[in-house]
Amino acid sequence: MSERLLFKDRVVVITGAGGGLGKVYALEYAKRGAKVVVNDLGGTLGGSGSNSRAADVVVDEIKNAGGEAVANYDSVNDNGERIIKTAIDNFGRVDILINNAGILRDVSFARMSEKEFGSVVDVHLNGGYKLCKAAWPYMLSQKFGRIINTASPAGLFGNFGQANYSAAKLGLVGLAETLAKEGYKYNIRVNSIAPLARSRMTENVLPPHILKQLGPEKIVPLILFLTHETTQVTNSIFELAAGFYGQLRWERSAGQIFNPNPETFTPEAILNKWKCIVDFKDKPFNKVQHPIQLSDYNDLITKAKKL
Ligand code: NAD
Repeated sequence: MSERLLFKDRVVVITGAGGGLGKVYALEYAKRGAKVVVNDLGGTLGGSGSNSRAADVVVDEIKNAGGEAVANYDSVNDNGERIIKTAIDNFGRVDILINNAGILRDVSFARMSEKEFGSVVDVHLNGGYKLCKAAWPYMLSQKFGRIINTASPAGLFGNFGQANYSAAKLGLVGLAETLAKEGYKYNIRVNSIAPLARSRMTENVLPPHILKQLGPEKIVPLILFLTHETTQVTNSIFELAAGFYGQLRWERSAGQIFNPNPETFTPEAILNKWKCIVDFKDKPFNKVQHPIQLSDYNDLITKAKKL
Protein backbone atom coordinates (compact mmCIF):
# COMPACT_ATOMS: atom_id res chain seq x y z
CA MET A 1 0.00 0.00 0.00
CA SER A 2 1.53 3.35 -1.00
CA GLU A 3 1.82 6.30 1.35
CA ARG A 4 -1.17 8.67 1.68
CA LEU A 5 -0.52 11.82 -0.37
CA LEU A 6 -0.75 14.75 2.03
CA PHE A 7 -0.72 18.50 1.35
CA LYS A 8 0.24 19.74 4.78
CA ASP A 9 0.96 23.50 4.71
CA ARG A 10 0.59 23.66 0.94
CA VAL A 11 -1.49 26.65 -0.17
CA VAL A 12 -3.99 25.83 -2.91
CA VAL A 13 -5.97 28.35 -4.95
CA ILE A 14 -9.04 26.93 -6.68
CA THR A 15 -11.10 29.20 -8.91
CA GLY A 16 -14.82 28.56 -9.22
CA ALA A 17 -14.72 26.40 -6.09
CA GLY A 18 -18.17 27.40 -4.78
CA GLY A 19 -19.84 24.44 -6.50
CA GLY A 20 -19.42 21.58 -8.95
CA LEU A 21 -15.92 20.19 -9.44
CA GLY A 22 -14.07 23.02 -7.68
CA LYS A 23 -15.97 22.42 -4.46
CA VAL A 24 -15.05 18.73 -4.25
CA TYR A 25 -11.41 19.58 -4.96
CA ALA A 26 -11.43 22.18 -2.16
CA LEU A 27 -12.91 19.76 0.39
CA GLU A 28 -10.43 17.01 -0.43
CA TYR A 29 -7.35 19.28 -0.38
CA ALA A 30 -8.44 20.63 3.00
CA LYS A 31 -8.97 17.10 4.36
CA ARG A 32 -5.39 16.33 3.38
CA GLY A 33 -3.93 19.33 5.21
CA ALA A 34 -3.85 22.08 2.58
CA LYS A 35 -4.79 25.70 3.21
CA VAL A 36 -7.36 26.53 0.56
CA VAL A 37 -8.42 29.75 -1.15
CA VAL A 38 -11.99 29.10 -2.26
CA ASN A 39 -12.69 31.55 -5.06
CA ASP A 40 -16.14 31.92 -6.59
CA LEU A 41 -17.95 34.81 -8.18
CA GLY A 42 -21.24 33.08 -7.46
CA GLY A 43 -23.00 34.04 -10.69
CA THR A 44 -25.27 32.08 -13.03
CA LEU A 45 -24.10 29.42 -15.46
CA GLY A 46 -24.13 32.09 -18.17
CA GLY A 47 -21.92 34.35 -16.04
CA SER A 48 -24.36 37.02 -14.90
CA GLY A 49 -24.69 38.25 -11.33
CA SER A 50 -22.55 37.52 -8.28
CA ASN A 51 -23.05 36.14 -4.79
CA SER A 52 -20.62 35.53 -1.93
CA ARG A 53 -22.68 32.62 -0.59
CA ALA A 54 -21.23 29.97 -2.93
CA ALA A 55 -17.65 30.40 -1.65
CA ASP A 56 -18.76 31.01 1.96
CA VAL A 57 -20.64 27.70 2.18
CA VAL A 58 -17.54 25.76 1.10
CA VAL A 59 -15.25 27.67 3.47
CA ASP A 60 -17.66 27.00 6.36
CA GLU A 61 -17.77 23.30 5.51
CA ILE A 62 -13.97 23.11 5.52
CA LYS A 63 -13.64 25.04 8.79
CA ASN A 64 -16.37 23.00 10.49
CA ALA A 65 -14.40 19.88 9.63
CA GLY A 66 -11.27 21.40 11.24
CA GLY A 67 -9.57 22.56 8.02
CA GLU A 68 -8.19 25.91 6.89
CA ALA A 69 -9.76 27.98 4.12
CA VAL A 70 -10.51 31.52 3.10
CA ALA A 71 -13.10 32.82 0.64
CA ASN A 72 -12.54 35.13 -2.31
CA TYR A 73 -15.36 36.47 -4.48
CA ASP A 74 -13.45 38.10 -7.33
CA SER A 75 -14.04 37.38 -10.97
CA VAL A 76 -11.07 35.51 -12.46
CA ASN A 77 -10.91 37.62 -15.60
CA ASP A 78 -11.52 41.01 -13.99
CA ASN A 79 -9.46 40.69 -10.83
CA GLY A 80 -7.53 37.42 -11.04
CA GLU A 81 -4.48 38.94 -9.31
CA ARG A 82 -6.60 39.67 -6.21
CA ILE A 83 -7.33 35.96 -5.84
CA ILE A 84 -3.61 35.19 -5.61
CA LYS A 85 -3.20 38.16 -3.25
CA THR A 86 -5.80 36.54 -0.98
CA ALA A 87 -3.52 33.49 -0.75
CA ILE A 88 -0.44 35.60 -0.02
CA ASP A 89 -2.19 37.87 2.52
CA ASN A 90 -3.75 34.98 4.44
CA PHE A 91 -1.26 32.13 4.08
CA GLY A 92 1.98 33.76 2.84
CA ARG A 93 2.44 31.71 -0.33
CA VAL A 94 0.80 29.94 -3.26
CA ASP A 95 1.84 26.39 -4.15
CA ILE A 96 -0.95 24.97 -6.26
CA LEU A 97 -3.30 26.69 -8.69
CA ILE A 98 -6.37 25.00 -10.13
CA ASN A 99 -7.86 27.06 -12.97
CA ASN A 100 -11.40 25.73 -12.81
CA ALA A 101 -13.86 28.67 -13.00
CA GLY A 102 -16.06 28.64 -16.05
CA ILE A 103 -19.30 29.67 -17.73
CA LEU A 104 -21.26 28.53 -20.77
CA ARG A 105 -22.96 30.55 -23.49
CA ASP A 106 -23.83 27.82 -25.97
CA VAL A 107 -25.22 28.83 -29.35
CA SER A 108 -24.47 27.74 -32.92
CA PHE A 109 -21.62 29.67 -34.52
CA ALA A 110 -23.96 31.23 -37.11
CA ARG A 111 -25.92 32.89 -34.30
CA MET A 112 -23.10 33.55 -31.84
CA SER A 113 -22.55 37.23 -31.09
CA GLU A 114 -19.13 38.74 -30.52
CA LYS A 115 -20.13 39.25 -26.89
CA GLU A 116 -21.08 35.58 -26.48
CA PHE A 117 -17.74 34.56 -27.96
CA GLY A 118 -15.68 37.10 -26.03
CA SER A 119 -17.23 36.64 -22.60
CA VAL A 120 -16.60 32.89 -22.59
CA VAL A 121 -13.00 33.30 -23.79
CA ASP A 122 -12.57 36.00 -21.15
CA VAL A 123 -13.60 33.89 -18.18
CA HIS A 124 -11.84 30.67 -19.17
CA LEU A 125 -8.74 31.72 -21.06
CA ASN A 126 -8.05 35.27 -19.88
CA GLY A 127 -9.09 34.27 -16.35
CA GLY A 128 -6.63 31.35 -16.45
CA TYR A 129 -3.95 33.67 -17.79
CA LYS A 130 -4.50 36.23 -15.00
CA LEU A 131 -4.20 33.62 -12.26
CA CYS A 132 -1.08 32.03 -13.78
CA LYS A 133 0.51 35.43 -14.33
CA ALA A 134 -0.09 36.49 -10.71
CA ALA A 135 1.05 33.16 -9.20
CA TRP A 136 4.07 32.72 -11.48
CA PRO A 137 6.61 35.02 -9.72
CA TYR A 138 5.89 33.30 -6.37
CA MET A 139 6.26 29.85 -7.90
CA LEU A 140 9.50 30.81 -9.65
CA SER A 141 11.08 32.28 -6.54
CA GLN A 142 10.10 29.38 -4.24
CA LYS A 143 11.08 26.85 -6.94
CA PHE A 144 7.84 24.97 -6.56
CA GLY A 145 4.50 25.13 -8.26
CA ARG A 146 1.75 22.89 -9.55
CA ILE A 147 -0.87 24.19 -11.99
CA ILE A 148 -3.90 22.49 -13.52
CA ASN A 149 -5.74 24.13 -16.40
CA THR A 150 -9.25 22.83 -16.90
CA ALA A 151 -9.82 22.15 -20.57
CA SER A 152 -12.71 20.12 -21.95
CA PRO A 153 -13.43 17.37 -24.46
CA ALA A 154 -15.22 20.16 -26.38
CA GLY A 155 -11.90 22.00 -26.68
CA LEU A 156 -9.98 18.94 -27.80
CA PHE A 157 -12.53 17.55 -30.24
CA GLY A 158 -15.02 20.40 -30.88
CA ASN A 159 -18.70 20.37 -29.99
CA PHE A 160 -21.77 21.74 -31.70
CA GLY A 161 -22.81 25.10 -30.23
CA GLN A 162 -19.57 25.62 -28.31
CA ALA A 163 -17.23 27.54 -30.65
CA ASN A 164 -16.53 30.08 -27.87
CA TYR A 165 -16.01 27.46 -25.18
CA SER A 166 -13.92 25.08 -27.28
CA ALA A 167 -11.64 27.89 -28.48
CA ALA A 168 -11.07 29.02 -24.88
CA LYS A 169 -10.50 25.48 -23.62
CA LEU A 170 -7.89 24.57 -26.23
CA GLY A 171 -6.25 27.93 -25.52
CA LEU A 172 -5.80 26.81 -21.93
CA VAL A 173 -4.02 23.67 -23.15
CA GLY A 174 -1.60 25.79 -25.18
CA LEU A 175 -0.96 28.03 -22.18
CA ALA A 176 -0.29 24.98 -19.99
CA GLU A 177 2.11 23.44 -22.53
CA THR A 178 4.24 26.57 -22.70
CA LEU A 179 4.22 27.18 -18.93
CA ALA A 180 5.25 23.53 -18.45
CA LYS A 181 8.35 24.25 -20.52
CA GLU A 182 9.16 27.65 -19.01
CA GLY A 183 8.57 26.41 -15.47
CA TYR A 184 10.33 23.07 -15.75
CA LYS A 185 13.69 24.00 -14.22
CA TYR A 186 11.90 25.78 -11.36
CA ASN A 187 10.04 22.61 -10.36
CA ILE A 188 6.77 24.00 -11.68
CA ARG A 189 4.63 21.28 -13.26
CA VAL A 190 1.67 22.21 -15.43
CA ASN A 191 -0.98 19.88 -16.85
CA SER A 192 -4.43 20.09 -18.44
CA ILE A 193 -7.50 18.03 -17.73
CA ALA A 194 -10.58 17.41 -19.86
CA PRO A 195 -13.19 16.13 -17.39
CA LEU A 196 -16.79 15.02 -17.73
CA ALA A 197 -18.80 15.19 -14.52
CA ARG A 198 -22.21 15.88 -13.08
CA SER A 199 -22.66 19.58 -12.31
CA ARG A 200 -24.95 22.41 -13.30
CA MET A 201 -23.02 22.48 -16.58
CA THR A 202 -24.12 19.00 -17.57
CA GLU A 203 -27.33 18.32 -15.61
CA ASN A 204 -29.61 19.59 -18.39
CA VAL A 205 -27.60 18.09 -21.22
CA LEU A 206 -27.00 14.45 -20.28
CA PRO A 207 -29.61 11.78 -19.45
CA PRO A 208 -30.10 10.92 -15.73
CA HIS A 209 -28.72 7.35 -15.97
CA ILE A 210 -25.43 8.73 -17.38
CA LEU A 211 -25.31 11.62 -14.89
CA LYS A 212 -25.61 9.06 -12.10
CA GLN A 213 -22.21 7.63 -13.09
CA LEU A 214 -20.53 11.03 -13.35
CA GLY A 215 -20.00 11.99 -9.73
CA PRO A 216 -17.56 14.95 -9.51
CA GLU A 217 -15.70 13.11 -6.74
CA LYS A 218 -14.43 10.74 -9.46
CA ILE A 219 -12.35 13.59 -10.94
CA VAL A 220 -10.60 14.49 -7.68
CA PRO A 221 -7.96 11.71 -7.37
CA LEU A 222 -6.10 12.68 -10.54
CA ILE A 223 -6.09 16.38 -9.61
CA LEU A 224 -4.53 15.61 -6.25
CA PHE A 225 -2.04 13.16 -7.73
CA LEU A 226 -0.90 15.62 -10.42
CA THR A 227 -0.41 18.46 -7.95
CA HIS A 228 1.40 16.56 -5.22
CA GLU A 229 4.99 17.59 -4.52
CA THR A 230 6.26 14.09 -5.39
CA THR A 231 4.62 14.07 -8.83
CA GLN A 232 6.83 15.10 -11.74
CA VAL A 233 4.27 14.64 -14.53
CA THR A 234 4.06 17.78 -16.65
CA ASN A 235 3.03 19.08 -20.10
CA SER A 236 0.30 16.44 -20.34
CA ILE A 237 -3.41 16.28 -21.08
CA PHE A 238 -5.73 13.86 -19.33
CA GLU A 239 -9.29 12.92 -20.13
CA LEU A 240 -11.35 11.63 -17.21
CA ALA A 241 -14.91 10.73 -16.33
CA ALA A 242 -16.84 8.23 -14.22
CA GLY A 243 -13.68 6.63 -12.87
CA PHE A 244 -11.86 6.42 -16.23
CA TYR A 245 -8.47 8.15 -16.47
CA GLY A 246 -6.52 8.34 -19.73
CA GLN A 247 -3.83 10.46 -21.30
CA LEU A 248 -4.19 12.23 -24.63
CA ARG A 249 -1.31 13.14 -26.87
CA TRP A 250 -0.67 14.78 -30.20
CA GLU A 251 0.39 12.45 -32.98
CA ARG A 252 2.15 13.25 -36.22
CA SER A 253 1.69 11.06 -39.29
CA ALA A 254 4.63 9.50 -41.10
CA GLY A 255 4.42 12.38 -43.55
CA GLN A 256 6.01 12.74 -46.95
CA ILE A 257 9.18 14.56 -47.97
CA PHE A 258 9.06 16.54 -51.20
CA ASN A 259 11.96 17.83 -53.20
CA PRO A 260 11.33 21.58 -53.07
CA ASN A 261 11.90 22.01 -56.80
CA PRO A 262 9.33 24.57 -58.05
CA GLU A 263 8.62 22.34 -61.05
CA THR A 264 7.56 19.36 -58.96
CA PHE A 265 6.59 20.99 -55.65
CA THR A 266 2.99 21.62 -56.60
CA PRO A 267 -0.55 21.14 -55.26
CA GLU A 268 -0.79 18.22 -57.72
CA ALA A 269 2.22 16.61 -56.04
CA ILE A 270 0.38 16.92 -52.73
CA LEU A 271 -2.70 15.31 -54.28
CA ASN A 272 -0.60 12.39 -55.57
CA LYS A 273 1.04 11.81 -52.20
CA TRP A 274 -1.96 12.62 -50.01
CA LYS A 275 -2.27 9.05 -48.71
CA CYS A 276 1.36 9.13 -47.50
CA ILE A 277 0.97 12.58 -45.89
CA VAL A 278 -1.91 11.39 -43.74
CA ASP A 279 -0.62 7.86 -43.08
CA PHE A 280 -0.46 7.20 -39.34
CA LYS A 281 0.60 3.55 -39.64
CA ASP A 282 4.32 4.25 -39.75
CA LYS A 283 5.10 7.01 -37.26
CA PRO A 284 8.67 8.31 -37.14
CA PHE A 285 7.61 11.24 -34.95
CA ASN A 286 5.25 9.35 -32.71
CA LYS A 287 4.56 10.62 -29.15
CA VAL A 288 4.70 14.26 -30.15
CA GLN A 289 5.62 16.36 -27.14
CA HIS A 290 7.38 19.03 -29.15
CA PRO A 291 7.50 20.35 -32.71
CA ILE A 292 9.83 18.69 -35.21
CA GLN A 293 13.30 19.56 -33.95
CA LEU A 294 15.92 21.42 -35.98
CA SER A 295 17.99 18.25 -36.16
CA ASP A 296 14.99 16.43 -37.65
CA TYR A 297 14.61 19.18 -40.25
CA ASN A 298 18.28 18.83 -41.23
CA ASP A 299 17.67 15.16 -41.74
CA LEU A 300 14.57 15.85 -43.80
CA ILE A 301 16.33 18.45 -45.96
CA THR A 302 19.19 16.04 -46.66
CA LYS A 303 16.69 13.37 -47.70
CA ALA A 304 14.71 15.87 -49.80
CA LYS A 305 17.80 16.90 -51.73
CA LYS A 306 18.34 13.28 -52.74
CA LEU A 307 14.84 12.96 -54.24
P1 NAD B 1 -19.93 24.79 -12.28
O1 NAD B 1 -20.76 25.77 -13.03
O2 NAD B 1 -20.56 24.03 -11.18
O3 NAD B 1 -18.60 25.46 -11.71
C1 NAD B 1 -18.01 26.60 -12.26
C2 NAD B 1 -17.84 27.61 -11.15
O4 NAD B 1 -17.13 28.74 -11.65
C3 NAD B 1 -19.18 28.14 -10.62
O5 NAD B 1 -19.27 27.92 -9.23
C4 NAD B 1 -19.16 29.62 -10.99
O6 NAD B 1 -19.81 30.45 -10.05
C5 NAD B 1 -17.67 29.90 -11.07
N1 NAD B 1 -17.38 31.05 -11.92
C6 NAD B 1 -17.91 31.36 -13.12
N2 NAD B 1 -17.39 32.50 -13.61
C7 NAD B 1 -16.49 32.93 -12.69
C8 NAD B 1 -15.61 34.04 -12.63
N3 NAD B 1 -15.56 34.95 -13.62
N4 NAD B 1 -14.81 34.16 -11.55
C9 NAD B 1 -14.85 33.26 -10.55
N5 NAD B 1 -15.68 32.19 -10.54
C10 NAD B 1 -16.48 32.02 -11.61
O7 NAD B 1 -19.39 23.75 -13.39
P2 NAD B 1 -18.33 22.56 -13.29
O8 NAD B 1 -18.86 21.48 -14.14
O9 NAD B 1 -17.95 22.26 -11.89
O10 NAD B 1 -17.10 23.21 -14.08
C11 NAD B 1 -15.80 23.35 -13.55
C12 NAD B 1 -14.82 23.46 -14.71
O11 NAD B 1 -14.78 22.22 -15.42
C13 NAD B 1 -15.19 24.52 -15.75
O12 NAD B 1 -14.03 25.15 -16.21
C14 NAD B 1 -15.80 23.72 -16.86
O13 NAD B 1 -15.74 24.38 -18.09
C15 NAD B 1 -14.96 22.47 -16.79
N6 NAD B 1 -15.58 21.31 -17.41
C16 NAD B 1 -16.62 20.70 -16.83
C17 NAD B 1 -17.19 19.59 -17.45
C18 NAD B 1 -18.31 18.84 -16.81
O14 NAD B 1 -18.67 17.78 -17.37
N7 NAD B 1 -18.88 19.29 -15.71
C19 NAD B 1 -16.69 19.14 -18.67
C20 NAD B 1 -15.60 19.79 -19.23
C21 NAD B 1 -15.04 20.87 -18.59
